[in-house]
Amino acid sequence: MIATWAMAYDGVKKASGELKNNISAADALEIAIKEVENHPFYKSVGYGGLPNEQGIVELDAAFMDGDNFNIGAVAGMQDVKNPISVARKLSEQQFNRFLVGDGATAYAQKNGFERVNMLTESAKSSWEKRIEEMKKSELSPYDGHDTVGVVCLDAKNSMAAGTSTSGLFMKMQGRVGDSPLSGSGFYVDSEIGGASATGLGEDLMKGCLSYEIVRLMGEGLTPQQAADKAVYEFHDKLTKRKGKAGAMSLICMNTKGEWGVATNVEFPFVVATETEEPKIYVARKGDGHSTIIEEASQEWLDNHEE
Ligand code: ASP
Repeated sequence: MIATWAMAYDGVKKASGELKNNISAADALEIAIKEVENHPFYKSVGYGGLPNEQGIVELDAAFMDGDNFNIGAVAGMQDVKNPISVARKLSEQQFNRFLVGDGATAYAQKNGFERVNMLTESAKSSWEKRIEEMKKSELSPYDGHDTVGVVCLDAKNSMAAGTSTSGLFMKMQGRVGDSPLSGSGFYVDSEIGGASATGLGEDLMKGCLSYEIVRLMGEGLTPQQAADKAVYEFHDKLTKRKGKAGAMSLICMNTKGEWGVATNVEFPFVVATETEEPKIYVARKGDGHSTIIEEASQEWLDNHEE
């Protein structure tokens, strides 16, 4: 299993332990993402997620089963505890697999998903503070976002991919990023591998980078080669044509459990394999089209913990 950001560590630990007991990739992915959604300290996913400019927490999530390409997704959903579970349930429907706004919230309510006010006191005060700061400075209102994205392989060689996020802090009401969009925020094919993205959705969705990485792995590239090629070529293309590229970080894994990461910012992520315990790594862009990946140092982990 590979997952974006250090916040995924506890979820990956829990889910990878269960994978050893032969649970499915889909179940493991849901366990890992729910753990992040339920944690009030993580301000960009689920409970405690930062609100939009109206002070409302709008959540996006998606689930994909790599065996049969079933996809379910929600966007702009409010007050539902576990968006990933709603997305997974939708992936089993024949029609109506991607629901937005009130429709997604109503579906979750009708189908017995737990309702919770997702705006914590802490997220509310961050919002109030940002409103004040924005009156005084040029600060970008959108600083503050991270998506939990997971790609998972199980003992029967099934794969799943999924995402969950509150999107950009201070986003406009109704704004949706890449995270619930197939091919952009996530993609998985159990005969090849899967990928997931985090970063500026407005730029990520221009490159369909999750699909592109899976396609390149299907052509025989290793996950690391595929991630480097897709992310840095697109980063260069955006920089050339538009002057700059937003933050883009992609994770991927193939059917052998080999993994890769590419990013144009400092990017922590978590990996657990058959032989390796869950571990936090930090990636950054190297020279040319390469990625430097190091295990997180004790100092880094201490700062993160704090
Ligand atoms: N990609 C997410 C979005 O644009 C945010 C993030 O992953 O940081 O909604």
